[in-house]
Formats: sequence, structure tokens, C-alpha cells
Amino acid sequence: MSSLRVAQRATRVLVAGGSYAGLAMTLNLLDLCHGFSPRFSGTNAPADKTQQAPVEVTIVDQRDGFYHLIGTPLAYTSREYAEKAWIRFQDIPALQTPSVKIINAGITQLNCQEKVATVTEISNQQDTKIPYDYFVAASGLRRTKPSAPTALSRKEYLNDALEHIRLVESAEDGVVVIGAGAVGIEIAAELKTTHPHLKVTLIHSRKQILSSENVSDEFRDLALGLVQESGVETILGARVNKVIKKSDPGTGLTSYEVCFVDGRHVKAGFVVNAISKFHPTANYLPSSALDEEGYVKIGSSTAFVEGTPNADYHYAAGDIARWPGIKRCGAAMHQGLHTAVNIHQRILSAQNGITPQFKELDPNVPPMMALAIGKKAASYTPDEGIASGEDVLNLFFGDDLGFAICWNYLRLGEAPYKGERLIDLGDADVRNDTQLPELPTNEPIQA
Ligand SMILES: Cc1cc2nc3c(=O)[nH]c(=O)nc-3n(C[C@H](O)[C@H](O)[C@H](O)COP(=O)(O)OP(=O)(O)OC[C@H]3O[C@@H](n4cnc5c(N)ncnc54)[C@H](O)[C@@H]3O)c2cc1C
Repeated sequence: MSSLRVAQRATRVLVAGGSYAGLAMTLNLLDLCHGFSPRFSGTNAPADKTQQAPVEVTIVDQRDGFYHLIGTPLAYTSREYAEKAWIRFQDIPALQTPSVKIINAGITQLNCQEKVATVTEISNQQDTKIPYDYFVAASGLRRTKPSAPTALSRKEYLNDALEHIRLVESAEDGVVVIGAGAVGIEIAAELKTTHPHLKVTLIHSRKQILSSENVSDEFRDLALGLVQESGVETILGARVNKVIKKSDPGTGLTSYEVCFVDGRHVKAGFVVNAISKFHPTANYLPSSALDEEGYVKIGSSTAFVEGTPNADYHYAAGDIARWPGIKRCGAAMHQGLHTAVNIHQRILSAQNGITPQFKELDPNVPPMMALAIGKKAASYTPDEGIASGEDVLNLFFGDDLGFAICWNYLRLGEAPYKGERLIDLGDADVRNDTQLPELPTNEPIQA
């Protein structure tokens, strides 16, 4: 195989967070740096050698794998699904390439001036400094159970999910879910659908469900109809003021009394508090990069806005970024693609002197929502308006709350490129004259 000489060392891209946004950025950037179209473009043209560039991506994540966050309501309901929803990074074929390094650590500080990150490794709590050329913040929002597991390893998460399922199944007085936002609705409906004999009650303080979401009353009514059709009982316009836990020393069983402000109360064998609490995870960034709520201020190229040192070398994608629109997985992956394209353009500009052509995000993001409610889904899109049914569930979520859709879209199951060698594997300190193997131009982009 002939070689293409590249008079540059591999560009070091550091990514905080290996989920939808971080993986979308990483894999599309690898495509581009091999000279291919980004995988999200859906095209499969031969490699263009003029677009190739040596790159080394380091993903830092506190978790030891990719967790399909959208599937959480089912992961805490079905044992089989719980096994499937978390895949360790070492078991994801697309990441098994020398161009990607994964560090199981939390980013604790970023020095944007020096371009050095401090990370704390999960295994030994040791701090390590990682220098980089480009940084991508894709660490999302800090969420707690029941919206997301708090475990950092697959093993710990599975123990927690299986114990949760055991408690749900043994709840003789039924399960009460407090909070009918999107997460509470999906949890209640998945519980009832997976365990049809279980009594499931969804409680909400307002008269309408989804009261904090930017959706129409028509959509709220449609969603409520589907919740009730799935067999979930609802108590609306009732504010819970306390939950009393009772243990029966004779039987060893635990039960709960859910008390309302108006004096009413209901009994439960298990209570899920689905009132969402979340915060951006960006406290490792300088305050100049953040808005008043802690989201990263980005421009339409996804780069940080001016005001932070080296802003053009720092990007944010996904839930952590301040950008219009409902925080969605599709938006996170879309922003990951934009980030990959724009970093690639900058790399080529530095390497070959081209004028970079940036891909701009559209700030006019129309409201859009899809909600899985048991065997059906409700959706709102600008083109189709409001829709519901089993076909809508299949379209937006397939039969596994979107796991296969995301896995296949990211192409996580595909092996990386044949003959891939995007990083300089020679003397680590002498990296200014890397040999980049020429890629076969008649091969599909996956091996
Ligand atoms: C229950 C539930 C259901 C949902 N359903 C839908 C749906 O149906 N459709 C839809 O489009 N969206 C849905 N969403 C929203 C969607 O999941 C998010 O928009 C999406 O996860 C955002 O992706 P992300 O990559 O930006 O962040 P995340 O998926 O949150 O990933 C962030 C990653 O960063 C890591 N991390 C965090 N802090 C650090 C740190 N300091 N250092 C290193 N790593 C760090 C985390 O471990 C994680 O792996 C749902 C969300 C929830 C909670």
C-alpha cells in the first residue's frame, strides 16, 4: 500500500462525554479524517485523499460505557432490556481503533488558555492532565434516578436496576409514580405494559399532564388518553406533600402512604418520584463560557462564543449546549455532526491552508416531541402535526425505545476502517512527520 505523507502530527481532540453527542462527533470526525463523507450524510462515496488528516480522539466519560438514556423507563422495568441498555465502551465495535482512546474519568477542570484538561480517574481517584488541540463538551445534564442511573459502571447499574425491578414486582399495593412530565408518563406506561397485573397510578399536581413542556393542550389531552388506555390510573390536580414509609416487622414488607395537601392519601407498595431535577454538567468550564443557568454559550458553528480564551478551539454539543429547541437525542447527534464537520474544516485549514467552510446550526428549531406510552406513542412534528398509534411508536422508537435506531444510526456495531491508522504510532515525542496509509478508495467505509 502506498503512503501519503502528512507533515503534521495527529490533531488531538478531547471529548467530554461518550453518549449521543460525543459519539456522533467522534465517529463522524473519523469518517471525515479518512476522507469519507460523514456517516450521518448517508452517502458512501470513495475516499477523497485531499480531505484526510491524522487525528486522535480521546473520549473521557465517568461511565464505563454508552448508556441509552432514552430507554431508562424500560431499563428499570424489564430485566432483559436492562441488560441491553448499557454497553461497555470496550464492547462497542466502532470504537475499537487506535484513533480512539477512552478514559474512564470525570473532567474536573479545563484550562482553555493552556488547552489542558484535568480529569479524575474513576478507578483510583487520581488526577491526570490531558493536553489537547480541540475540546468538545458533550457531557449533557446531571440527572438522577429515575431519569437516569447514578451508577458509573455497568455492573453497579445492573445491580441497581434489577433490585428496582424486584421491588416493583413485589409491590402488592401497586406503584405510584409522582410527576406526569415526559419521564413520569413513560415510566408509568412501561410499568403497566410490562407488568399488566400491577396497579400503577400516575399523580400530577396540575390538572393537565406535561404542564411544564412546550406542547399544545391538544397534545396533552392526546397523551392523557393514551396513558389511561394503557391501564394506568391517574390522579390530577393533586399536590403531594409527603410520602410516609411503613415497615411491617411481622412480614418484613414495606409500604407507603402518599399524602396530598388537601388531606387525601393513597397506599402504595412502591413509589417512584419522577419530578425531574437536572443541571448542566459544565462546572469544569470557566464561567465566561456559561450562561446564567450553566449551559455552554455556543454560536451556530457550535464553537464557544467569544469571551473564553481560544474559543475557536472549544465546542459544545447536545444537552449541555445553550441552543433553542427541546433537549433531544436527535438534536444532540445533529450538533455532534456539526461539531465534527467544523473541527475537520479547521484541521484542514491548518494542514492545507484551505478556507474553512463551516456548517451552521439553524436557530429556528420547531417544537417537536415524541412520547412512548406503552404500546403506542404520541408525536408532534411541524410537518405531520399531532399523531398517535402503534405505527407512531414503531416510527419513532421501534420496539425497544429507540435503542436499535440510535445504535444503527451511529453505526456502533460496525467495525472501524480497514487499514485504519489515523494517528502517529511512532515515537510519541517525535510526531511532526506522520506516515498516513493511503486508504483503499473502492471499499465501503466500514470493514
Ligand atoms: C428518561 C428520558 C427519556 C428521554 N426520551 C427521549 C426521547 O424519546 N427522544 C429524544 O430525542 N430524547 C429523549 N430524551 C432526551 C435525551 O436523552 C437527551 O437529549 C440526550 O441524552 C442528550 O445527549 P447528550 O449526549 O448531550 O448527553 P447525555 O446522553 O446525558 O450524555 C452525557 C455523557 O457525559 C458523561 N459525563 C457527564 N459529566 C461528565 C464529566 N464531568 N466528565 C466526563 N463525562 C461526563 C455522562 O456519563 C454521559 O455518558 C430523554 C431523556 C430522558 C432522561
